[in-house]
Amino acid sequence: MKAPVSSFDMLPEVAQFLSASPIAAVVGGQDVPGLDGQTFTTLDPGTGLPLAQVVAMQAADVDLAVRAAARAFPAWSGLPANERAVWLHRLADEIERRKPVIAQIEALDAGKILAQAAADVQVCVDTLRYFNTMALHLQRRSTLAVQGHEAWTFRRAWGPCGFIFPWNFPFLLIGWGVSPALAAGNTVVIKPAEDTPLSAIYLARLAREIGFPDGVINIVTGMGDRAGAALSAHPGLKRFSFTGSPEVGQLVGAACGRNLIPCKLELGGKGAAVVFDDVDVEDTARKLAVAITTHSGQVCCDATRWLVHEKIYDRFGQSEGAEMLLPGGRASVPGYDGFYVRPTLMAGDLKNVAAREEVFGPVAFLAPFRDERQAVEMANDTDYGLANSVWSSDLGRASRVAEAMVAGNSWINAHNLFPHGVPYGGVNRSGTGGGVNSPETLYDYWRSQSVVRPLA
Ligand code: NAD
Repeated sequence: MKAPVSSFDMLPEVAQFLSASPIAAVVGGQDVPGLDGQTFTTLDPGTGLPLAQVVAMQAADVDLAVRAAARAFPAWSGLPANERAVWLHRLADEIERRKPVIAQIEALDAGKILAQAAADVQVCVDTLRYFNTMALHLQRRSTLAVQGHEAWTFRRAWGPCGFIFPWNFPFLLIGWGVSPALAAGNTVVIKPAEDTPLSAIYLARLAREIGFPDGVINIVTGMGDRAGAALSAHPGLKRFSFTGSPEVGQLVGAACGRNLIPCKLELGGKGAAVVFDDVDVEDTARKLAVAITTHSGQVCCDATRWLVHEKIYDRFGQSEGAEMLLPGGRASVPGYDGFYVRPTLMAGDLKNVAAREEVFGPVAFLAPFRDERQAVEMANDTDYGLANSVWSSDLGRASRVAEAMVAGNSWINAHNLFPHGVPYGGVNRSGTGGGVNSPETLYDYWRSQSVVRPLA
């Protein structure tokens, strides 16, 4: 394969990592070539050129990974919490130290701007530290006041947990997903998207380098309908988490249902931004434009429906009726033959497919509303329910609308906010079963068990 090209000077560690052919997955602390020798190519979206060859795992490989995670579970979950915390803090420190390397790998594999890739790596570090610290402090035992009995509950890790991730935030989402599971004492098998498998492999190797116990973090690479389907259907897993499209989420949820294991689904969205006429129009328009173009609009919770009060609608758009305000389409970038698109701004009837389905690109749809009631109705006229925002200088009204919009998350005078400590998740077609980034996420990765004894 030709040496990959990039718009930045590639670090020697990155070049060396990419030079293996194929790049092996990591199971039980070992680099594994896959049982049947199949591989796939991951592309650099910036150039459109092949970036690396990666092992394409099948059901038998996935089975070995789940077994490795099951073998590692008793020792990992049996560690005193403070000893587990030492490992996880060491891992966070090492990821942070290697941020420039991981950021380059992520930027190349996922088509990200380097600074954004570095920010994603930092979010992973911060999330690991957040859950690791919390796991040391949350109460895991409760004594119950029950007449005539001594009774208590305690929380214990589930066992090996499966994770499937999408391609838009590969490393960040691993941080969000597996940090609470590991901090709670579970072991993990991670299937990254076939478009972006590299940073996950790098993470498992880095864990091995610092002496992390073998089998606690396992990576299975391959196609969704092979490695992904095998992982989600594996009866050896005790808990599952899927992040991706609603269509695949239904398949994964059904597979987990057949094994009767809990499955968290973090799916797509069609978020609204409701803009009242008392905002600073320029400032709000600029913030929404930044939101929809960040990472080329490939953000699940983006503001894709801009619902604007009729008094200021003309300043956002041009006029009523279905029309293309910014035509979008493929963009050409001199010197790069990769995958680039222009932003699109459309206006008109919200029944339009572009206003109803997730486009997953820099595409926004503009429509006017008359009053607060109509704005809420329009925001809620969707199958999804991930994240919306409301923009107004009247904070009473903003809070009312924020609570009336049906979704897992509402933001006021901002879009795309993810502070640690605030649960993030979806309802309806956007997901089920939890959310991420908050104390309740850590509780998801402990099962509760009760003990009771009659006193007489
Ligand atoms: P996708 O559903 O196509 O793929 C996601 C993962 O599922 C990949 O790893 C893929 O290999 C795997 N997969 C595919 N077929 C499978 C099968 N039959 N069985 C098991 N696994 C299978 O999604 P995508 O295109 O990678 O990502 C984009 C989607 O992810 C968008 O809908 C976006 O909104 C959503 N997303 C949601 C969140 C969130 O937190 N809610 C975050 C990021 C992305």
